[in-house]
Amino acid sequence: MHEFALSKGIVETVLEHIADTDRVSRVIIDLGAFSGVEPESLRFCYQVVAEQTVLAGSELVLNPIPLTIRCRSCGFSGAIDATCFLCPRCESADVDILTGDRLTIKSIEVDDEQDR
Ligand SMILES: [Zn+2]
Repeated sequence: MHEFALSKGIVETVLEHIADTDRVSRVIIDLGAFSGVEPESLRFCYQVVAEQTVLAGSELVLNPIPLTIRCRSCGFSGAIDATCFLCPRCESADVDILTGDRLTIKSIEVDDEQDR
């Protein structure tokens, strides 16, 4: 299950970046439109994986990132439909993907009011 492995990777990465005493409230993810990840499935798997760690109860926030490309033929750059890899201006398939083809951890929010 693709999303399960991804969730494990996210949780492990977050754990590497926080102190032992930190309580994570939110993990913010940039989720590309063409990353092939099902958001609901990812959220569900994240909860399951996080359950056994200090991330239990934290919220996974998915920030949708549109697929954008740059066309090598006409120089167009901008967002395109994630199902069609053609330049919308000249219909060339010779395009570079700029954003939207991956999942990245954008930021980690730690609850720093635990001493209250
Ligand atoms: Zn073009």
